[in-house]
Amino acid sequence: MMRSPQESEADVDEEKRPLAVVIENGSPIFYTLALLALSIPLMREHFYVGTVGILTALVVHTIRTAALQSRLVRTQHELRDARDRLEKIALTDALTNAANRRCFDQTLSLEWNRAARNQLPLGLLLIDIDHFKKLNDRYGHPTGDKCLAAVASALQAALPRSGDLLARYGGEEFAAILPATDEDGARLVAVKMLAAVSSMHIRNETSLGDFVTVSIGIAVFGSAGTGSAHQIVEAADRALYRAKERGRNRIESIGQRDFQGTGSV
Ligand code: GH3
Ligand code: MG
Ligand code: MG
Repeated sequence: MMRSPQESEADVDEEKRPLAVVIENGSPIFYTLALLALSIPLMREHFYVGTVGILTALVVHTIRTAALQSRLVRTQHELRDARDRLEKIALTDALTNAANRRCFDQTLSLEWNRAARNQLPLGLLLIDIDHFKKLNDRYGHPTGDKCLAAVASALQAALPRSGDLLARYGGEEFAAILPATDEDGARLVAVKMLAAVSSMHIRNETSLGDFVTVSIGIAVFGSAGTGSAHQIVEAADRALYRAKERGRNRIESIGQRDFQGTGSV
């Protein structure tokens, strides 16, 4: 297989590294030892010259150690910053800047367990842009992309608490995790989101009107229980489907009793 010049250079660097490390790390010790080996015998005949030699060796060694220590601390900071940046990239949707699906899955499972542990309600909203395909078809994909980013920031702005999470669930669908939020609270947020999106007046001429709207499905898990976080997603999805079925640009919700199959809406 052909190797690029950059790859070959990287290989050479890799091979050089152990030797470079030995020289770099060993040189201050060799230097100090050499200076001490010269200065100690010299002390017998030239006391002051020998003493100055020993002191010089110690001072240089101390300065070198301090410099290495500060470089180590700096490198550790740089590594931590790089790790944080990578972590952010791995959990963020590049187009909308909202959390991505991976972050959503992780957070939902965490919040589901926390809600069960603390006997607190958990709310989930699934938000889908209405007739988005029409917007793409009429105005083009780049305009569709801009619309997605604008809708994401409007939805984010409608979230009241720092512990809430907005994620791009996929395509033109978003999800909001609302920890410690009951059905009334979740509905309040959904109403705010609906208003925030339509007030942006992004053009999309459909049977619903001239501007972009969204449909929202709400599911609220009221207290600790068995099962998996997947249940609440399924419930919100059913509520969203109902919102679409009942005309779009609206909010529908399913409570815990309903998605456990023991009650009706
Ligand atoms: P509904 O009201 O039933 O939700 O209709 P809809 O047209 O919004 O839904 P549909 O699932 O038919 O179409 C979704 C469209 O979203 C199709 C797809 O091309 C578009 N889409 C998905 N991801 C992106 C993206 O990242 N950028 C753009 N511009 N379009 C996207
Ligand atoms: Mg849609
Ligand atoms: Mg969709």
